[in-house]
Amino acid sequence: MGAPNDESADEYIARLIPPQVRALTAYAVADAHGLIKLDAMENPYPWPAGLKDEWLERLRGIDVNRYPDPKASQLKERLRVALEVPASAEMLLGNGSDELIQLLILAIGGPGSVVFAPDPSFAMYALVARATGRRFESVPLDEGDFSIRLDATLEAIRTHQPALTFLAYPNNPTGNLFDTGHVEAILDATSGLVVVDEAYAPFAGASFFSQLEERPNLLVLRTVSKLGLAGLRLGVLAGAPAWTRELDKLRLPYNLNALTQASADLALSHYPLFEEQTRQIVRDRDELYARLAVMDGIRVWPSQANFLLVRTHRGTGSAMAAALRERGVLVKNLHGASSLLRDCLRVTIGRPEENAAFLHALKEIIDAEASE
Ligand SMILES: *Cc1c(COP(=O)(O)O)cnc(C)c1O
Repeated sequence: MGAPNDESADEYIARLIPPQVRALTAYAVADAHGLIKLDAMENPYPWPAGLKDEWLERLRGIDVNRYPDPKASQLKERLRVALEVPASAEMLLGNGSDELIQLLILAIGGPGSVVFAPDPSFAMYALVARATGRRFESVPLDEGDFSIRLDATLEAIRTHQPALTFLAYPNNPTGNLFDTGHVEAILDATSGLVVVDEAYAPFAGASFFSQLEERPNLLVLRTVSKLGLAGLRLGVLAGAPAWTRELDKLRLPYNLNALTQASADLALSHYPLFEEQTRQIVRDRDELYARLAVMDGIRVWPSQANFLLVRTHRGTGSAMAAALRERGVLVKNLHGASSLLRDCLRVTIGRPEENAAFLHALKEIIDAEASE
């Protein structure tokens, strides 16, 4: 028997969890209870009653005492048709595309290698890279329109030699599509892998799917979360079979549970319903954009996604987020997330009445500010 152990959990942690992990902050999810939830790019529309009945009937047939189909073959075929995945590409499915981002970072380059993404972009790239002992490098986007600053980016790629580059297309949290030529120039310049993360493809009508076959260092990442199935946790990585075969070795067996497989298969067999909801969200986005664009004290950027990036008066961003919350509207406060996001809020497009409530609250707060 060893000596009685007098080390506290904190002492164990200090010895055993590497400093770069202890330095991280867990991805924060705000409590949305009782609030109009415009913080997480969810589709605001619940399923029609008929679809819910069909869904529950489908779930009745699942034996949860058995492991799910490890290859998710039926779901993959459904995804191929619904998302129009090119015939030459193979798919790797993940428990959300977050899981695939983690898998990619673990698989590519090894400890000490460089993960690159523009700044600002999706927080998970840097978080996972740092947690796994990679170096995360970035170059600020243009502060006016959030386009890629190509010369600086190519220079950084030459200097840092990233093994893995993530380009969110459209970008989160800025909402813009990068210039196709800029993305192609990065693909040409890097000796590493480029993952084009098309989480918002349903709202953008643009994709790098068509370039997969001719570009050996390109993979495309998709998710059904923003389309309307965030609760299922299902992401798709598409690319050359040689890549997916290699990456599949790091995928945990049965990572897609039986309920997700069956539910997503059913939902995607009703794809036109989600396309209709998507069109509605795009119309509402453009209307909200137009209203914000003429408001005093607000700057808003054009968006190809299901959210808008908004900037308030200097020094008022965090107070605005808090004041909106007091009025029952939850948005994402991005102030502090990047030097380019000073006083910025990200607002997900909700149902028309939710967007109206946001706009109303915003006006009230700005009017109150003005009369002080
Ligand atoms: C939301 C988002 C994801 C994560 O999607 P999940 O499939 O829900 O994990 C990935 N990339 C970008 C750019 C996103 O905005």
